[in-house]
Amino acid sequence: MAESMAKHRIFSGIQPTGEPHLGNYLGAIRQWVEQQDAAAPHDALYSIVDYHALTIEMDTGALDRHTLDLMASLVACGLDPARVTLFRQSDVPEHTELGWIFSCLAAMGDLQRMTQFKDKAEQNRDNINVGLFTYPVLQAADILLYHADLVPVGDDQVQHLELVRECARRFNRRFGETFPEPQPLLSKVPRLKGLDGSAKMSKSKGNTVALSEPPEQIRAKLKVAVTDPARLRRNDPGHPEVCNVFTLHGFFTAPHDPARLGAIERDCRSAALGCVDCKKELADRMLEHLGPIRERQAALRARPDDLRDLLEVGRRKAAEIARATMETVRERIGVRVPRRPR
Ligand code: ATP
Ligand code: MG
Repeated sequence: MAESMAKHRIFSGIQPTGEPHLGNYLGAIRQWVEQQDAAAPHDALYSIVDYHALTIEMDTGALDRHTLDLMASLVACGLDPARVTLFRQSDVPEHTELGWIFSCLAAMGDLQRMTQFKDKAEQNRDNINVGLFTYPVLQAADILLYHADLVPVGDDQVQHLELVRECARRFNRRFGETFPEPQPLLSKVPRLKGLDGSAKMSKSKGNTVALSEPPEQIRAKLKVAVTDPARLRRNDPGHPEVCNVFTLHGFFTAPHDPARLGAIERDCRSAALGCVDCKKELADRMLEHLGPIRERQAALRARPDDLRDLLEVGRRKAAEIARATMETVRERIGVRVPRRPR
């Protein structure tokens, strides 16, 4: 009983690599908001991890613009900078300092097994930089700097979290018990597929629906979204269990009208409902849901100074914890050890 009520500290991050999309929203952001709004919320830190995004090449000025845009999106989705610590990674230099320390503990062999590195190296063949390789080491610093013990993740990050725990264990073994071994809090939507119906929806894969997308564009994208691959002709019965459009109905139709989801499933199987109409209905429900988020997002994006002020609020809260952690860490490993006061 006492244990289940103990307060945890949560940390999670999102990269300013482009417009946040339905995968980020359903798989991460929406659940961060639910956690914040719970009756007894845990202490939570959410970071816009701009140093991670630096592993991908962008036009000059794009990183700052994406960072502000992402801040606007997070707040528009309901994260409240007064109740959670919402901050930019590069505002707290201790992340990179601790990242170096962990890079002296992590094993090359462990990093070489990371599937995200293999994927991203494949996608960015002309820019396979060292940061892309050591990405999970910086992630270990992000999490452990705050002694977070719970990390909400999609299934793409479970492997990284194992490495984070290994960094904590190695540090503790060598320098004394300092860090907890954080556990993954697996997302309720661990891997939303892209509109191509195969790969994970991902900013870098061009298969997304962005939260900020204009309605006509969302409708156009849904029109060509892959459904049940076996349904070749209009009158063939469908297989909703393998259809990404049906999965999305589960998020956007079911909460308002659970009976309608059952009807869609039945009518898809009997071919009474065709893909064209089914997608049109999904677009309507999705636009109803995303409309208010899009409006708040646009209003916030028009006020960059206010967004920078909100980032400063988060920086202050995060920096205080980070400073205390690093004082202990430096002392334990024997770097920057200050003269003791008399
Ligand atoms: P990139 O392509 O630049 O890596 P991304 O779309 O994978 O971008 P991240 O910033 O890497 O987004 O991830 C932010 C959070 O969103 C993570 O918790 C991740 O697990 C989650 N997430 C990303 N894509 C999906 C998805 N398709 N389904 C569920 N969760 C996702
Ligand atoms: Mg990613």
